[in-house]
Amino acid sequence: MKIAIFGAGQLAMMMIEESSKLNHEFVVVDPSPNPPASKYAKHLQTDYTDKKTLDYIAANYDIATIDFENVDITAMKFLERNIRVSPPSQALEVCQDRLLEKNLFRKLGISVTNYKEIKDISDLKKYCKGNESNYLLKSRRFGYDGKNQFKCNTNLDLLENLISDCACIVEEVVDFTTEVSLVCVRQDDDNIYFYPLIENFHKDGILRYSRFPYVNRELQNIAERYGKELLNYFDYVGVLVVEFFVTKDGELVANEMAPRVHNSGHWSIEGSSSSQFELHIKAITNDLNNDLINFKPSVMINILSKYPDNNILKELDFHHFHSYEKEERYLRKLGHITITKNKAEQIESILPNYLRVLDN
Ligand code: AMP
Repeated sequence: MKIAIFGAGQLAMMMIEESSKLNHEFVVVDPSPNPPASKYAKHLQTDYTDKKTLDYIAANYDIATIDFENVDITAMKFLERNIRVSPPSQALEVCQDRLLEKNLFRKLGISVTNYKEIKDISDLKKYCKGNESNYLLKSRRFGYDGKNQFKCNTNLDLLENLISDCACIVEEVVDFTTEVSLVCVRQDDDNIYFYPLIENFHKDGILRYSRFPYVNRELQNIAERYGKELLNYFDYVGVLVVEFFVTKDGELVANEMAPRVHNSGHWSIEGSSSSQFELHIKAITNDLNNDLINFKPSVMINILSKYPDNNILKELDFHHFHSYEKEERYLRKLGHITITKNKAEQIESILPNYLRVLDN
């Protein structure tokens, strides 16, 4: 089939690489020059809302999908009138706005931290009741990897600037022991898949590494119930990832969801018989048929800011190195490393060595 991907970053790149045996034809749309996926498919270097580009895709392609969630909804709705858009624009719209997202979690009975829309600083003060350190101010939109969010006991000017720049919510800080994510895949009612939970470790709001699997039968069942509610609500097609906190009381609290393949699922390229990228492309092209999926204990470590010295890495253990061939920049995701083993304990023993080398 002919597939257009909006955004040509590393996620689009891995979708194309991981579905190379499936014989699809890809085009990627991205205004930046030489993004990672442009080496693997025809690249339309235009704005995401460019009318000519949208007309061309509507006339020549079967399906549109995405590699980042902040795509233009009007453009996606235009495409939806002409070709299949997976995931559906309604899901994209909700995932772009923390308030709509949390309202939906609540409506579907998915546990979520206390939150409220904030219009001005007095609103915020009233909500915090003197306990500012227990609350976070977040922009409703364009807040990923910890961007556009501040603890409410931060400098007042920073908070006031954020509130005057954009619509915001305040949410209670969750006292968590760890963070986990659930990769969900849906093609139709007969083809719904969940990977076991993945445990995620962040630094400065950015994913540092993901360890798979996080084994907890009870939380797995709850996460899958929540995932199914969301997939069915949107009549979702493709990969959807839900991020959760595991609280000190052992409860699962949803933080946010991503309507796309996700950084915490990169281990699946080597750690699973079907990666999240392959499953996404199969789901959107109606190619899943109750596939059986196997897994191996894995860890995925992001390469941030600076590429490591290959000679030092080679001495550590056997691993898979993925470079996105990007220019080095502070806290930029430049690539990742995946290690798979037969037993989780083997991962535990070598992980600290990798973190030492990659923590720059
Ligand atoms: P986000 O941009 O919402 O994904 O947040 C990035 C990271 O900040 C999360 O993965 C958490 O580590 C932390 N964080 C965000 N919201 C909260 C919260 N309500 N309570 C505690 N930690 C949070």
